[in-house]
Amino acid sequence: MSAADYRLRRPIARWDDDRKYAACPRCQADVSASLGAPSVPTLRLANQNPIRVDGETINARGYICEACRYILAIAPAAAVVDVGGAADESTPWIRLGAVFVDGSKRPIVVPRREVRPR
Ligand SMILES: [Zn+2]
Repeated sequence: MSAADYRLRRPIARWDDDRKYAACPRCQADVSASLGAPSVPTLRLANQNPIRVDGETINARGYICEACRYILAIAPAAAVVDVGGAADESTPWIRLGAVFVDGSKRPIVVPRREVRPR
């Protein structure tokens, strides 16, 4: 299956008694086990200055709902990893703009090693 088939949304938080888990906003499935860095097509990126991404995909911190074909990209504030800006070289992750299903441009979190200075 091609990464281009997957579109971007944010995960939602759901509760099962006192356990909080990540879920798909469309089908409500528990996607917690898929936490990782799924591939996002670079054509879904936006506002790449002052950095650029080479290649056709980049890995974004988040979950996948295979049923709905969504990559559920975690917001920088919720990523539970160290996220920096382009000028701050101390963090392994960096925020990058991307276009979501609703057309909005919002930040996702990607490995710094996958971006290059312009
Ligand atoms: Zn789903």
